[in-house]
Amino acid sequence: MRDIHVLTTGGTIDKVYGVSGLLEIGPPAFQALMAPVLTDLRFVVTPVLAVDSLDMTEPDREQLCRAVEAVDGDLVLITHGTDTMAATARHLAEHLSPAARSKVVVLTGAMQPAAMRVSDASYNLGTATAALQLLPPGVHIAMSGRVFRADEVVKDTTRGVFVEAPSPDLERILRWERQGGEWQVLTTGADAVTVALMRCDAGEEIDRLTSSAPDVLRHVAGAD
Ligand code: ASP
Repeated sequence: MRDIHVLTTGGTIDKVYGVSGLLEIGPPAFQALMAPVLTDLRFVVTPVLAVDSLDMTEPDREQLCRAVEAVDGDLVLITHGTDTMAATARHLAEHLSPAARSKVVVLTGAMQPAAMRVSDASYNLGTATAALQLLPPGVHIAMSGRVFRADEVVKDTTRGVFVEAPSPDLERILRWERQGGEWQVLTTGADAVTVALMRCDAGEEIDRLTSSAPDVLRHVAGAD
């Protein structure tokens, strides 16, 4: 029998309507969600925190780190709120003790509470459980039907979808766009592009960027 250690931290997956009519963090939903699943896996569930991840503090993340390190096993599934899941994944990847880095850690959660009839909770737990058994050691996120390394993922809050984090070069172009600036492709090759960053009013070039980041190449080609 294979053990999967489940650490719960709260988040929407565990939210329920309290008698006050407000959504609050209930007990971990994990066992109820897994109840219909016939399996030889053994799930060892340990509640660590019960917070909305927007309220999660650095000491909370440290507590979670210590809880992962204390797990007597290699497979660790963490249920977590989606809003700061990527931040926690990065924190764990950077702060876990060298010994704990041999573990496979997968974070997952849900956009809709498990208690709701239409929720992504079961689907995400299934994805995470399967991913856990296939991934190499390290910290990962299983969300949106996909699996990401901790250092390459963000939640696109406008769509509620987990996606690859933009490269630093794309982040710079997007920041420029958000500030109302314009850009123009100066030269484009098979694997690099040079872009002029310009003021929106006068069209005056303020800066220039040459990048071979695949997401920049796609962005300037209008593919993303
Ligand atoms: N605010 C919630 C959280 O991050 C959202 C969610 O879990 O989807 O805990």
